[in-house]
Amino acid sequence: IEALLADPAYAGHPLREALDELWRQTQEQMARIERVTQISDAYQSMALKREQGLYERFDRQLRRLSRIARISDHYQSMMRDLNQTLEETARRDPLTGLFNRRALMEMIRRQVQRSARTGQGFVVAMLDVDHFKSVNDRYGHDTGDRVLVELANVLLQSIRATDQCGRWGGEEFLLLLPDTSLTAAQPALDRVVAGVRALSVGVGDETLRLTVSVGMADHRLGETFSETLSRADQALYLAKHDGRDRVALSAGQS
Ligand code: GH3
Ligand code: MG
Ligand code: MG
Repeated sequence: IEALLADPAYAGHPLREALDELWRQTQEQMARIERVTQISDAYQSMALKREQGLYERFDRQLRRLSRIARISDHYQSMMRDLNQTLEETARRDPLTGLFNRRALMEMIRRQVQRSARTGQGFVVAMLDVDHFKSVNDRYGHDTGDRVLVELANVLLQSIRATDQCGRWGGEEFLLLLPDTSLTAAQPALDRVVAGVRALSVGVGDETLRLTVSVGMADHRLGETFSETLSRADQALYLAKHDGRDRVALSAGQS
C-alpha cells in the first residue's frame, strides 16, 4: 500500500486520498492492538506469578498446619496418658500400692448396684493388724511402714483374682469378695489370717511376727454400702474382743 501511495503514477487518483487516510488509521489501529497485547501479556504474567505465589503460600501454610496437627495429636495422647496415670495414682495408696479407701468405696458402691441387678451377693472383710502400735513403738515407724508393705503383699497373694484388696487407712485393710457367700468366705479369710501368721519380717537380728483380726459381713439386698461396711466393722470389733488373730461375723449372722 505504501508503494502504491508513493507511486507518482497515482498522484492524481481520486481514491488516493481515501487510501492514504485508511492506511493511516490501520497503522494507528495496529499500534493500539500492539499496546493492548503488551498490556494483556504483562497482566497475564503478573496473574500467573501471583497465582504461583499464592499456591506456594498455601502449600507452606498447609505443611505448617499439618505439623501443628501432628504436635497437637502428640500432646493430646500425652495428656491422655498423663490423665490415665493420674486417675490410676488417685486410686492407689502410695505406701503399699494397693487400692486406697476412695477406690474401695467406689468398688463397693458398684458391687451394691450389681447385686441389686443380679441378686448376686458379695462379702466385705475389714482387716486390722493386731497390736500394731507396739510394732511402731518397738521398731520405729519406718519398720512399721515396711511391715505394712509386706502385709499388703501377703494379702495380694492370698486372695483370688476376682477379689479386691485395698488399704482402708492406717493399719486397716479391706477385702471385697464378689459373688461369694459367708460360707465360702470363711475358709478364704481363714487362709488370709493364716498367711499373715506365717509372715516373718526380719528387723536386724530379730524376726517380727504379726497377726490380724478380720470382721466379715455379707451384703444384704436393700442395704446401703455403708450399712454393710458398718456390720463388717462390728464383726472386726468382735474378733478383737474374742482374742484377735481370727475371723468373726457381726452379731446376728450365722
Ligand atoms: P489393736 O490390736 O487393738 O488393733 O491394736 P493396735 O495397736 O493395732 O491399735 P491402734 O489403733 O491403737 O494402733 C494402730 C497403730 O497403727 C497406731 C498408728 O501409729 C499405727 N499406724 C497407722 N498408720 C500407720 C502407717 O502408715 N505407718 C505406720 N508405721 N504406723 C501406722
Ligand atoms: Mg486400727
Ligand atoms: Mg490394730
